[in-house]
Amino acid sequence: PRTPLIAGNWKMHGLKDALGYFDALAAAGVVADGREILVCPPATLVAAAAARAAIHGIAIGGQDCHTGTSGAHTGDISAAMLRDAGANYVIVGHSERRGDHGETDALVCAKARAARAAGLTPIICVGETLSEREAGQENGIVAGQLTGSIPGVFGPADFVVAYEPVWAIGTGRTASSDDIAAMHAFIRSSVPDGEQVRILYGGSVKPENAAAILALSDVDGALVGGASLDPASFADIAKSV
Ligand code: 13P
Repeated sequence: PRTPLIAGNWKMHGLKDALGYFDALAAAGVVADGREILVCPPATLVAAAAARAAIHGIAIGGQDCHTGTSGAHTGDISAAMLRDAGANYVIVGHSERRGDHGETDALVCAKARAARAAGLTPIICVGETLSEREAGQENGIVAGQLTGSIPGVFGPADFVVAYEPVWAIGTGRTASSDDIAAMHAFIRSSVPDGEQVRILYGGSVKPENAAAILALSDVDGALVGGASLDPASFADIAKSV
């Protein structure tokens, strides 16, 4: 039984006046048995958002963490700090982190391990670029990312995978249902105990396409960027599970 997880990634959006979002989301009826709702705001809002979201049964996650617990790392935030602020999840290895900050699979793996050690569930992101897909390399790229980014000691409940084809992020160009189904089946067959691992799809998920994507048997939820910023849109997506 893989409980569907609908996760919002606010990326670098959100000031403190955004907290009414959680009341609006709850009022829209997103919280229901049989699905988990998660919002990942910027680090500055994690503590306040966690306090507000907890009232409604909505979970909070970070968007990144450091590999260590504490230390001389100016500007970084540890998984233990996110946990302390009320988070239960953290996204690691998002393509924007891999791209903007040169994060490697080995670093993402260390972050995932640190997250788990701090009591967080890491959402480990993988996905190919457009040129890799056009060259027919998507399975090989994703397989390499999975092998390199998922700690070998992890059991299937220790993490969540998010498949986010880079070319579908923020572009309005969603992967086709066939492409998503094929890649999710491939990911499930590639990770140990894959039947028990939750695999999310991300990349231009909108209210209009969410039901079709979430109906695919190997899709266990969504990681939503732009459309998660509006509570009504995010609620529509969540309610299509
Ligand atoms: P969009 O939904 O804006 O395409 O972003 C997807 C994403 O990167 C979520 O992590």
